[in-house]
Amino acid sequence: MASSKCPSCSNQSFELVELIPSGSSYKMNSIQCSHCGAVAGIVDYTNTEYLINKQSKEINEIHSSLDIINRNLRSIIGLLKK
Ligand SMILES: [Zn+2]
Repeated sequence: MASSKCPSCSNQSFELVELIPSGSSYKMNSIQCSHCGAVAGIVDYTNTEYLINKQSKEINEIHSSLDIINRNLRSIIGLLKK
């Protein structure tokens, strides 16, 4: 497999650097050459997979809470019908 190299200086070491581009209100990360700073790519500041998994867990917790509320309401309705 070929190794990535900087298009400017051919260095093969890169680093992740936080940045807020002018005109943007969002942080981003640049992947840049650790020697000369040439930008090789831009990635989101936050990890999308992490956020999706976190939201999925929160949705499942809400669903479980709604199931409990639904069961309790059915019990209350059952008691009121007696
Ligand atoms: Zn470089």
